[in-house]
Amino acid sequence: MARKLLLCILIFFISFPTNVFGIKLESNYIDVKLGSSKHISDIITLYSDNGFLLYEKYDLGQDIEKVYENKIYVMGNDYGEVIILDDDFEILTTIPGDGSIVIGNGTVYESLVQVEENKYRDYITFIIKDKAISVINHINIENYLYGVVPKEMSASFPLEALKAQAIVARSFAYVNINAHKKDGYNLCDTTHCQVYGAFDNEHRTTNQAVNETYGQYVSYNGKVISANYHSNSGGYTEDSSNVWSQSLPYLTAIEDPFSKNAPNSSWTFTMSTSEIKSKLIAAGINIGEIMDMEIIETSESNRVLSIKIVGSMGEKIIKGSDLRNILGLTTLKSTLFTVYKEGGNQNSKVYVIDANSIYPREINLNYAYILDGKNHIGVNRSSVSRAKGVDRTSTVGSTYVSQPDRFVFNGKGYGHGVGMSQYGAMEMANQGYNYYDIITHYYNGVEILNLGK
Ligand SMILES: [Zn+2]
Repeated sequence: MARKLLLCILIFFISFPTNVFGIKLESNYIDVKLGSSKHISDIITLYSDNGFLLYEKYDLGQDIEKVYENKIYVMGNDYGEVIILDDDFEILTTIPGDGSIVIGNGTVYESLVQVEENKYRDYITFIIKDKAISVINHINIENYLYGVVPKEMSASFPLEALKAQAIVARSFAYVNINAHKKDGYNLCDTTHCQVYGAFDNEHRTTNQAVNETYGQYVSYNGKVISANYHSNSGGYTEDSSNVWSQSLPYLTAIEDPFSKNAPNSSWTFTMSTSEIKSKLIAAGINIGEIMDMEIIETSESNRVLSIKIVGSMGEKIIKGSDLRNILGLTTLKSTLFTVYKEGGNQNSKVYVIDANSIYPREINLNYAYILDGKNHIGVNRSSVSRAKGVDRTSTVGSTYVSQPDRFVFNGKGYGHGVGMSQYGAMEMANQGYNYYDIITHYYNGVEILNLGK
């Protein structure tokens, strides 16, 4: 159903350059929320060297009002309207709080409006909801990409890698155009959607990459795809079904030698047992002192699908991706890791003499009764354990297992591993591959189409 809808959107893009789904498609304008919302009583300052022109959002050809000020203040009122004030806090005009009126620079060419410290291309508008005011950048999608590409990939990367990034970012924007529809805009400017920076963050090379791939997007069977990407695959990308439970034929796991020997292709990360415990508790998992971690299941690319965390008060099996979220996405950089414990007393061996032998033999603690300090048999291991014979009267061995001091993670890659590896793209470009080679390497069975103009 979703794919059919996307196809419809694209057909509309190509065939009916009119107003579809609230987006003015003949000019490809989208609404991007800038930063977090403020309270309606907060003052937002806008600057322009040429004054401001107000337009109806869907009729940018003719301004409806001119404001002869280089600095204006904006705030909301209790009626859900946006008040525009001059430098002396005199009200200049009031516009609806639904984003239907947009504010541009006083010149019609290369409109830049400064909001607080940052300049943005095209137009600014505001949406008021529940006493909160959001600043929205009403912007041409290609201009939006000027702000995304340098935020999502270093502008120092080779041009063909930047072009691949521009195309996947454009595809991602098309697919996720309704990500924030319920709040009245299209995309946010954070990693939730794609990171979008102000005009001042633009770079010559990234703008060139956007220009040279104008309108191009990644397509599978004629439909635009969610062209996911990440920093470094660690040598093997991941199947989308292992990350988002949705199997997609173009997001399959592939071997990726290009990502080796690049930043974060391998890493080590150590976290203290007490910090892991507090992070787990913050995530609603309280299993006492953390005694051990055991990888239960890995994917085809060796990423951790599930891991068992053994605590003094119980065990918990969680997804590898959940462990990343809990411990930190920038510290546990991928789920392509192994883990071992360090420090503390790890002597957990138990020796018994049973009826069939006269010499002590080692038994696996997992198959022995574990008693707590009150001689109760329990499934949970506490820091001190004693094993009893099956008659439950004589102690046949004892052991002491203290919590480890820390856990050491050895890993490869950075990010979820699905789709294009950005460092892999860099290496491919350095080896002479072009953006088409890069995209068809990372996305299985795709082609690059152009919206056409
Ligand atoms: Zn978002």
